[in-house]
Amino acid sequence: MKIMKFGGSSVANGARIKSVAEIIINEEKTGKTGIVLSAMKGVTDMMIESAWNAEKGKPEYVKIIETVRQKHFEAIDTLFPQDKKEEIKNTITEMLHEIEEILHGVKLLKECSKRSMDFIMSFGEKLSCKLMAAYLTALSYKATYIDASENFIITDNQHGSATVHFQQSYENIQKKLKKADGIPVITGFIASTEIGLTTTLGRNGSDYTASIIGAALNAECVEIWTDVDGVLSADPRIVANAFVIPELSYQEAMELSYFGAEVIHPYTMIPVVDKKIDIVIKNTLNPSAKGTLIADKVKRHTTVITGIACIDDVGLINVEGGGMIGIPGMASHILGEIAKAKLNIIMISQASSEHSICLVFKVQEAEKARKILNQTLQFDIKNKKIQNIELKGDLVVMAVIGENMRGTPGISGNLFSALGKEKINVFAIAQGSSERNISFIVGKKDKEKTLNTLHKVFLEK
Ligand code: ADP
Ligand code: ASP
Ligand code: MG
Repeated sequence: MKIMKFGGSSVANGARIKSVAEIIINEEKTGKTGIVLSAMKGVTDMMIESAWNAEKGKPEYVKIIETVRQKHFEAIDTLFPQDKKEEIKNTITEMLHEIEEILHGVKLLKECSKRSMDFIMSFGEKLSCKLMAAYLTALSYKATYIDASENFIITDNQHGSATVHFQQSYENIQKKLKKADGIPVITGFIASTEIGLTTTLGRNGSDYTASIIGAALNAECVEIWTDVDGVLSADPRIVANAFVIPELSYQEAMELSYFGAEVIHPYTMIPVVDKKIDIVIKNTLNPSAKGTLIADKVKRHTTVITGIACIDDVGLINVEGGGMIGIPGMASHILGEIAKAKLNIIMISQASSEHSICLVFKVQEAEKARKILNQTLQFDIKNKKIQNIELKGDLVVMAVIGENMRGTPGISGNLFSALGKEKINVFAIAQGSSERNISFIVGKKDKEKTLNTLHKVFLEK
């Protein structure tokens, strides 16, 4: 069995949905497939926006839901024959009516908890999958709609970005898909707790859904269909010369996606690594392109680095003080406070003088982290062990990644001298001992120059 996941851009409108259906039908001729879909492009954002409006008591929330309805109706109008439009339009209307009632409740309560937000967001995927299942049926192919928040993928109750309980999920998936008639059309991104509360797997999480299902079924392969020809050597919107990377190891793909290559969610590789199931990134707009194969054993690249990625809008906290030198437990104390506050550290660096520790966060979390450290390290500040807790914003994290970097001397030297020549200032550096990744911080204003300079030096012949 093959699992095929189509992202929001692939189901953005009627014409795109038609191409996706053609790809599915073609595949179904050669073997069994399971389909995972994202919400139509922009719909998850609209659901979030309408929930925020409802929470603030703004009547705009109704208009946003109306826009969601129109988007689906327009697709239906281009896809379905006249006599089959009404039924699917009624289904969509009923689902949106349910959401409006929930949003009305949010408005009355003036509160949208993370739990409610997950439920509201889940409608994006439910709507797109209902539509696709109905369309395949209208084309005379048997299709079964499967809601992944109903006894399917089971998670803990960390709403917004829940942790998957694999064993239980695998059993549910196997059971349900065995019974499914025809092509299963499964909602990406959404799951539920053991007691049936809807959860989500984090933004962009439909890729992860596909690989969880792939692993549960020991699928031959998981295909992630998107709007580019594969994983590119850098973000194509910034680096015009970026090219498709034909093959990537699981680890390289994880590193690239963790550091901002949004073409695939970083967790996607987790379920399939042990089972050595291949992931292939394909382009819905150009199905004949080979795409990128992400696998256990891949061809060695001819370049030292494989790709460059970048995380926007980060803040760097520098905890500095002479009194930190040689004191055991200081890093653990600092990291412990951050962990208690459930803030996510993107990058850590400590020079061997131990004079300072640098922590990098997404900008929204950086200010919270600074406040927490200021409060909880008061004792050390008063005792002058720590002189300064400084927050610097307007930064980006850059990462150069590549399996060939391991054991190759001189990369850091080349990298930083190339940046030096371009007068790009580097604020902090970290290299994992896997040697597959060197990450560093530069100013937001230097982002494009850094990406293009490094791409030219390391990846363009
Ligand atoms: P989907 O809707 O299919 O899930 P996404 O928008 O999540 O698609 O991801 C695809 C987009 O990721 C591409 O359109 C591209 O602009 C962006 N992107 C960023 N970095 C990379 C990269 N290194 N390789 C390919 N695409 C990238
Ligand atoms: N619809 C969700 C999002 O926009 C999940 C996904 O597209 O993968 O984040
Ligand atoms: Mg995506």
